[in-house]
Amino acid sequence: MANGYAGKILRVDLSQGSVAVEEPDEKFYRRYMGGWGIIAHYLLKELPRGADPLGPDNLLIFATGIVTGAPVAGAGRHAVGAKSPLTGGFGAAEVGGFWGAELTRAGWDAIVIRGQAKEPVYLWIRDDQVEILPAGHLWGKYTADTQRALRQELGDERVRVAQIGPAGERLSSIAAVMHDICRAAGRTGLGAVMGSKNLKAVAVRGSGSKQVADREALQAVGRWFSEHYPTTWLLGLGEHGTANGVKQHEDGGLPTYNFQRGTFDEGWEAITGDRMTETILKERDTCFACPVRCKRVVEVNEGPYPVDPTYGGPEYESIAALGSTCGVGDLSAVAHANMRCNAYGLDTISTGVTIAWAMECFERGLLTLEDTGGLELRFGNAAAMVQAVELIGRREGFGELLARGCYRAAQAIGRGTEKYVMHAKGQEIPMHEPRIKYGLGLGYAVSPTGADHMHNFHDVDYTKEEDIGSLKPFGILDPLPFDDLSPAKMKLAATLIPWSTLDNALGWCMFVAGSFDQPHFVETVRAITGWKTSTYELFKAGERAYTMARAFNAREGLTAADDRIPWRFFEPFKEGPSAGNALPIEGFEQARVTFCRMMGWDPQTGAPEDWKLHELGVGWVADGIK
Ligand code: SF4
Repeated sequence: MANGYAGKILRVDLSQGSVAVEEPDEKFYRRYMGGWGIIAHYLLKELPRGADPLGPDNLLIFATGIVTGAPVAGAGRHAVGAKSPLTGGFGAAEVGGFWGAELTRAGWDAIVIRGQAKEPVYLWIRDDQVEILPAGHLWGKYTADTQRALRQELGDERVRVAQIGPAGERLSSIAAVMHDICRAAGRTGLGAVMGSKNLKAVAVRGSGSKQVADREALQAVGRWFSEHYPTTWLLGLGEHGTANGVKQHEDGGLPTYNFQRGTFDEGWEAITGDRMTETILKERDTCFACPVRCKRVVEVNEGPYPVDPTYGGPEYESIAALGSTCGVGDLSAVAHANMRCNAYGLDTISTGVTIAWAMECFERGLLTLEDTGGLELRFGNAAAMVQAVELIGRREGFGELLARGCYRAAQAIGRGTEKYVMHAKGQEIPMHEPRIKYGLGLGYAVSPTGADHMHNFHDVDYTKEEDIGSLKPFGILDPLPFDDLSPAKMKLAATLIPWSTLDNALGWCMFVAGSFDQPHFVETVRAITGWKTSTYELFKAGERAYTMARAFNAREGLTAADDRIPWRFFEPFKEGPSAGNALPIEGFEQARVTFCRMMGWDPQTGAPEDWKLHELGVGWVADGIK
């Protein structure tokens, strides 16, 4: 079909060993667009309430969006989803690379997998031929070895592979689904869901290409973007990658020592993107159809922390999580730990923050050498950080506890360690500090997936008149300070959070999509689909997906009491440029209530109101969550 989607969803039942094809109508695609929208639809329609995230009933869903695989810059993303074993609620993670575009080339919009195979298997999709094949010989292998073996076995070096590493096989709650070896659908523990299904990998090869409705119009948008691109921040992003996020140290907002500080005087200059470019960078890498090339490939051949470039290189989140948050200012050690996470299939954010939690507890005497198996887990001990990654990946010794994530590890061990867990809904906090971005803190608290930066916003990007030009079509006419939590800031949150959820649903990289103005953004979707669409319709699609994810959480028993972030963010920083900054307790609660009302959620329960679900055209969800 020449409208940006294939019209086919692959259904797989691993218990039965069967596959089937579902062919939704156009309304399905127009309502859900892809990604989160499709994931929320299936979880709400088909997953029994209260299902065990690691049981056969859970659904593992790979969902592209209508932009994924189209000839558009940044069109290489898709989402993976399930009920999360980490949060117990809506689980979803977005990922770039080439796998999602390959799935569209094979003629599929999504894969919905249920059941559990008796023995390890992998899925082989070659256009419309689908096979469930034995994977016993791949079980236990690292991600690069698995991809190599599969390409050899299938006789095609261009096969794209989504897979779990040993961490997912061992059902770690912080395991990722890895794509193209080093692109992680990292958040919410989806690797464990894949492991529980005995599904090692999904290998894909397509011979087609995404068909779009108006190729000439899309080419015209492409020409506009080529001219516009050099004037955007994307040029700098490509040069040094996301790693220059480490420079948030200069604003006092670099997570350091398990978020005890916002500055890392001792080590920040050693782990910046500039430093990586000067030292260990081997080459830049990219995702499908993207000129930005913000991905890193690093290589280290000498010293205690070698890095194999096959595993790519660390992005900002990984550098700060395994680096400053653990007090480690050694770039090679951080890159090595990142490589080991990619090999084991671990989420680098959750892994780093869990180790940082253990380090703080160790330094406070709440964990002992007896607990850690002799590991001196002190901030700044790079060797201990690397060893902890190994133990988590293998789920051995102290790593058995840490592989549950810091929230569940603290619940298991007690002794006051719970106080130092940096999480929301059980998921570890990403590398953006709420004390320099107050609205972002609210975004962490209310997110359906727990602490998550992928559908959030950064207050500091909207503090000046020149920052808000693209928001005027949404009725936002005034910039706001970073520490504002007024109703005006909540209006900003209630606009930007659904809009970034839309990026994820479309399968469009938020860096690139965010550089499009409204007319060209809307024109891109129109040219792909042929729909006479509008900012209003697209915004509603993002809001619908986000609201349905909240509805799923309400159905699974999560409430407004789960919309919390750690006490630490309400205590002022003692030093650095952000000294004195702290979220206000009462103001934060008032902001949460205002945000709920703007989103059409009951502030008491946190659940979307019936009228809101009807207003979004998914009234059927209202009955299901009662
Ligand atoms: S900007 Fe970076 S993350 Fe986004 S699609 Fe391009 S290379 Fe991938």
